[in-house]
Amino acid sequence: MEDKLTNNRTNLLKNARRIVIKAGSGILTGDNGFNSTIINSLTNDICDLRSRGFEIILVSSGAIAAGMKKMGYEKKPDGISEKQAMAAIGQSRLMMAYEKAFGRHGVTVAQILITRDDLNNRRRYLNARNTIFTLLSWGIIPIINENDTVVIDEIKFGDNDNLSAMVANMTESNLLAILTDIDGLYDDDPRTNKNAKLIPLINKISSSHFQSATSVPGALGTGGMASKIAAARKATLKGIPVIITNGYTKNIIRKIMKGEETGTLFLPQTKAVCGRKHWIAFTRAIKGKIIIDDGAVKALIKNGKSLLPSGVIGVSGRFNRGDSVQIVDRNGNETAVGMVDYSSSELDIIKGLNSRKIEEMLGFKHNDEIIHRDNLLITSGQDGDETCQ
Ligand code: GLU
Repeated sequence: MEDKLTNNRTNLLKNARRIVIKAGSGILTGDNGFNSTIINSLTNDICDLRSRGFEIILVSSGAIAAGMKKMGYEKKPDGISEKQAMAAIGQSRLMMAYEKAFGRHGVTVAQILITRDDLNNRRRYLNARNTIFTLLSWGIIPIINENDTVVIDEIKFGDNDNLSAMVANMTESNLLAILTDIDGLYDDDPRTNKNAKLIPLINKISSSHFQSATSVPGALGTGGMASKIAAARKATLKGIPVIITNGYTKNIIRKIMKGEETGTLFLPQTKAVCGRKHWIAFTRAIKGKIIIDDGAVKALIKNGKSLLPSGVIGVSGRFNRGDSVQIVDRNGNETAVGMVDYSSSELDIIKGLNSRKIEEMLGFKHNDEIIHRDNLLITSGQDGDETCQ
């Protein structure tokens, strides 16, 4: 079993050249500020890989945590503007720590702060991408964080796990390594269940993986394991393997690249989801929810159909035509994500009705479908078999 896993990893990583490493706040922060042991070990590994021709992009959390340490806060403040203020205080300290650590190796780093809005906008997306590629071609390590001080909730990535998956996709990287404070994904929460077992390999992410993960982060983190699995799904659906592992392990990056068995490896999906559907489901902010009946679930999952108003039983949140929304079954399980053709208030009027009634009820009709199949990504069960028309 071990050998097979190790082979699996070695094969997978054989041709990896560009790697995104995400380091979480929990591992980067120590009692008196930054955890210099971790930062130095990470820096050593990154510089080692860089000298062997790898291109490394670091997505680093830790700004809010560093701000908290500076200001003597034990707990994250609740208010958004306080968190943003903490990030403003901590971000420069974070970069200073990296400047120092990488400086010892004579390696230059560059700070990139982005928001989800930047990736939604094609021109800004391309600008960010070109800048990263230029830095890499100069041998510089881009260090990316969310631009916490300017974002409001609905345009936030929310957590850097999500951001790191988007960066991996944007830069067509060959591996995403998420470094956290536990060994990987367990079949239960290891903080509460001593018998929980680490899952070394995941072929395909399913809803049971989300169920065994907790969304409760450590004191300094944001997303918990659930957001890491969501990030893994985003990246693997684009054909990028993901490793979630313990960032406290010495020389963890070197170990990963040697194919050593560590953490949980999520295999890339061979039939990657096409870019447009991926963008609809994973890059854009999700603005609301459409609840559908069992017949509609079957029509979407089994029969490859579009979503019609007749299958809609409820709407939650406020959204406009063209927004991305989540489609859930009666029990709240996600079935799909799609770009909707009617606003939430219009949907409230036409839900449950035959498409023939749309015009009569609204006085106009965009389409028979609420969400056309071309704008819909099925996210429950069957991954990566969605082609773009
Ligand atoms: N951007 C946040 C920070 O630097 C981190 C978000 C996260 O923990 O995922 O503190």
